[in-house]
Amino acid sequence: MNVVLLGIQGSGKGTQAELLSQKYKLPHINVGDSLRENIQNQTELGKIAKSYIDKGELVPDEYVFAIVEDVLNKAEKGFFLDGFPRNLEQAKFLLSKFKIDKFLLLELDEETAIKRILARRQCKKCKKVYNILFQKPEVENVCDICGGELILREDDNKQAIKKRIEKFHHETEKVIKLFKEQSNFITINAAQSLLAINKEIISKIN
Ligand code: AMP
Repeated sequence: MNVVLLGIQGSGKGTQAELLSQKYKLPHINVGDSLRENIQNQTELGKIAKSYIDKGELVPDEYVFAIVEDVLNKAEKGFFLDGFPRNLEQAKFLLSKFKIDKFLLLELDEETAIKRILARRQCKKCKKVYNILFQKPEVENVCDICGGELILREDDNKQAIKKRIEKFHHETEKVIKLFKEQSNFITINAAQSLLAINKEIISKIN
């Protein structure tokens, strides 16, 4: 089962992809996380990616394509892909290389999306994502899993968020329009609780 999750930043793609990955025992592939891993490991790609990510810009396709092709080829039984494609070139690249069984669009209004992003915290160590509004850790600022410190992502500041949302409207919405023409395109109401969204997805992909 190859599934692509689409939606505005803050719509919960990452959280839902993680839940689905646990349920179906298939990898959750997130391009942003792969890029951040490269930054943390101070690779050449990480150095290049950082300058784009900090500003909320998209990392150029040539770098992103290499990551995506490599990780998707390793996911032989299927995947939940989140954060890719974000523009038409990436969409065409994906369709030319992989068969996609479901496209899931998590629909959410911009105002709620921004509120959710500003409440997002990520563990510095294991990268688990929390939300101080509705997905709190047991102890404030401490990861439930590994005890690591919870931080606001560097690009989760108002200016970079605005830029990322602009990119979503200008570039990713064209991708959504293209995928909407496919029969396996599914729309999900992302303005619900985390578990209600999950239930809706599962009932629609089965
Ligand atoms: P995310 O974790 O999905 O919010 O992505 C964080 C940042 O990583 C984005 O603002 C981009 O700079 C970069 N990034 C993630 N996915 C992509 C992609 N598909 N194409 C280009 N850049 C990306």
